[in-house]
Amino acid sequence: SIVVTGATGHLGRHVVEQLLEKVPAEQITAVVRDAEKAAGFAERGVRIAVADYNAPASFDGLFSAGDKVLLISGNEFDKGRVQQHKVVIDAAGAAGVALLAYTSAPGTLTAALADDHRGTEQLLLDSGVPYALLRNGWYHENYTENLAPVLEHDAVVAAAGEGKLSSASRADYAAAAVAVLTGEGHENKTYELGGDTPWSFAEYAAELSRQTGREITYQPVPPEALVSLLTGAGLPEPFAQILAGVDVSIEKGELVVSTGDLSRLIGRPTTPLAEAVAAALKG
Ligand code: NDP
Repeated sequence: SIVVTGATGHLGRHVVEQLLEKVPAEQITAVVRDAEKAAGFAERGVRIAVADYNAPASFDGLFSAGDKVLLISGNEFDKGRVQQHKVVIDAAGAAGVALLAYTSAPGTLTAALADDHRGTEQLLLDSGVPYALLRNGWYHENYTENLAPVLEHDAVVAAAGEGKLSSASRADYAAAAVAVLTGEGHENKTYELGGDTPWSFAEYAAELSRQTGREITYQPVPPEALVSLLTGAGLPEPFAQILAGVDVSIEKGELVVSTGDLSRLIGRPTTPLAEAVAAALKG
C-alpha cells in the first residue's frame, strides 16, 4: 500500500486527498498522531495508523514489504528531527519497503533550516532503502496565509533584499509526491521542486496592491531588524533567527529553483502566486 506520515498536516491532507482521486482508499494508509483528526479519512475508507516520531516502538510492524512510503518531515524543531526521521527510515528498512520518499529542502539552501534535511537525506542514502528525495521549495502559503500584518501596515517586510524565490502551492508539491508514489521509475532520484516563476518581495507587494486596490510596499530590512520585529510580535527568538536566516538565503538566490522538475512531475504549470494571493484574500 501507499503510506503517508504527517497525514493530518497541511501538506499531508493534500496528499491523501489527491491519492484518493487515483487509487482505492483501502490502498492508502494515513499515519497520524491523533486518530480523531483523521476521522474524515477513515470514513472514506483510508486505513489509519497511529504513530509518533518520538516513539520508535509505535512504528514497529507499521510498514510492509513493498509499501511506498512518504515521510513528511516533522515540525518539532526543538526535538531533534533527524533522530525522529531516523525512526521512520529504520522501520521502513526493516520492513523492506519499495520506496521511501522524503520531503526535503532545496539542495542550494544553506540556511540553518536545511540542516535537518541534509542530515535526514544522508541517513536515507546510507540506509540502502530505495529513496526519492522531494526537495520542496517554499510554499506560497508561507506568505499568503500570513497576510494580517501586511494588510495592517500596508507593508511587506522581509530581510531578503532584492532576492527572488520560486514558491509553489502546497497542492502542487502534494501532486508531485502523488506522482512519485503512484508512478514508476522514481527509485533513487532527487527532485528539485519549485514554482515555474521566481518572484521578488517587491513584485509580491505589487501583486497585493493590484488585488486589494491599496498601496502596499516592500520594506527590506536587515536580518537583525526582522528578528526584533518577529520576537516583538511574540515569536520565540530561535524561530525568528531561523526565519531571518531563510531570508538571507533568499537574498542570495538559494530558493530559486530552475530545474522545472515540479511542473514536469505534475504534468502542468505550477500554481501562480497571484492565484494563492486571490484565494487568501477571499478568505
Ligand atoms: P504542518 O505543520 O501542517 O504538518 C506537520 C505534520 O508533521 C503534521 O501532520 C504533524 O502531525 C506531523 N508531525 C509533527 N511531529 C510529529 C511527530 N513527532 N510524530 C508524528 N508526526 C508528527 O506542515 P506542512 O504540512 O505545511 O508541511 C510539511 C512539512 O514540511 C513540515 O512539517 C516541515 O517539515 C516542512 N515545511 C516546509 C515548508 C516549505 O515552505 N517548504 C514550510 C513549512 C514547513 P499532527 O497533524 O498530529 O500535528
